[in-house]
Amino acid sequence: MFSPFHWRWALPLLAAAVAIAAALAGILVTGARRWTRVAEPLSGALLLGVALFGLLPELAQEIGWIPALVLFALGYFLLSASSLHRFTIPLIATAALHTFIDGWGLASLQSSGSLGVRIAFPMAVMLHKAPEGLALGAMLESSTGSKRRAFAWVAAVELITVAGSAVGFALAAGAWISYLLAVTGGSFVYLGAHAVRGLTSRQSHQS
Ligand SMILES: [Zn+2]
Repeated sequence: MFSPFHWRWALPLLAAAVAIAAALAGILVTGARRWTRVAEPLSGALLLGVALFGLLPELAQEIGWIPALVLFALGYFLLSASSLHRFTIPLIATAALHTFIDGWGLASLQSSGSLGVRIAFPMAVMLHKAPEGLALGAMLESSTGSKRRAFAWVAAVELITVAGSAVGFALAAGAWISYLLAVTGGSFVYLGAHAVRGLTSRQSHQS
């Protein structure tokens, strides 16, 4: 089996830790929500940039523009449809599937993919983990009505990132990984756009 402290585990473990720390801060520290009003749109804009100008052109070069755009759109709409339903179980299931693919992508890329994808995808994963943890913590706190249960669920869901990487390391990655990454890229665009839109709607609300 795998050595647990091998360097390749560093990225998935760090990604999960960032999201769990962000969820803990968002749930426990009252002032953290004010801070995220600035940090969230900033990381959202960065995420949008990396997904659209880093990941998309790189994947398009590998699988073609039409399939890349169609799969990006699919990822975008899958996430937007599932985030409409803020019930606990579908929310946890969708989030678990999402973090699984985060981890799977991180692991599979270390052995395959173009250099551009190997840079853009981990950047997109790291950029969205803090807002992801905050958003999951807030949504689960409102749906479970308990800070403790919300945090426990976020921690469990985020550790699935590491489980996804374990599967990614175990399976040999093929050309199909680019198609999966394109779907994930679309969900990054949704998350990024959502974070940026949060700022503009708050600004128009204030004025
Ligand atoms: Zn994620």
